[in-house]
Amino acid sequence: MNSKLRITNYELRIGWLYPELMSTYGDYGNIIVLQRRCEWRGINVDVVHLSLSKWEKDIDLLFMGGAQDKEQEIVSEDLVQSSKLKVKSLTKMIEDGIPGLYICGAYQFLGQYYKAADETTIPGLGIFDMYTVNPGKHEKRLIGDIIVDVSNSTFSEFGYTQLVGFENHGGRTYLGKSATPFAHVVKGFGNNGEDGTEGILYKNSIGSYLHGPLLPKNPEIADWFIAKALEHKYNDEITLQALDDSWEQQAKKAVLSTYE
Ligand code: GLN
Repeated sequence: MNSKLRITNYELRIGWLYPELMSTYGDYGNIIVLQRRCEWRGINVDVVHLSLSKWEKDIDLLFMGGAQDKEQEIVSEDLVQSSKLKVKSLTKMIEDGIPGLYICGAYQFLGQYYKAADETTIPGLGIFDMYTVNPGKHEKRLIGDIIVDVSNSTFSEFGYTQLVGFENHGGRTYLGKSATPFAHVVKGFGNNGEDGTEGILYKNSIGSYLHGPLLPKNPEIADWFIAKALEHKYNDEITLQALDDSWEQQAKKAVLSTYE
């Protein structure tokens, strides 16, 4: 992203999915980063909740955070098993290219299914070509700092390849043949601790295990989402005004240095 964005009356509506349930691991920080990076550029932002009791369709950017198996079951009950309207509306938004960030438990939802630690199977939306199995007490949880490399995906345009975060999941996610990983693991576990992949990139949606939250220390990804959302909404080539990210880059360097 380079050069100037004309300060105009651009506005974005961010749809935050199930905030009252899918917020166990501090992923709310991603919403704050998206809001601030828009406001600092004169883009008006409205954050609306899409939840058990509320749903809206006119959304420009989607976000859903992670949670424990119990909350995932409640949301699945509502989202996948009892509300055709919500399933249809969310599926349409994703397939139409509305950008979205789905962290951990949210990411698991968008696959075929999530086999929880208690061996119940929570049906997913089947939008992402992947499935997740949580071995429960038979295997350790995948927890710790994680460093990934996105150089061979859409994000290499930043000339930036490494992202940092924190992961905490029991689920092991396995990508199908048609799936594109979001990133490759440099340090940590990623999708399953075996195949070196992390997350998934599908149209303008990213599924990822990177808590932290992801966006504060990786502002390039926040800007990728903002630009994609504006391009999709205004059908216009968008170049965002550069912001001073020196603090963010120092925070990232601090994490990267623990690995060298
Ligand atoms: N409960 C899911 C798991 O353990 C998701 C965890 C999360 O969202 N951090 O894999």
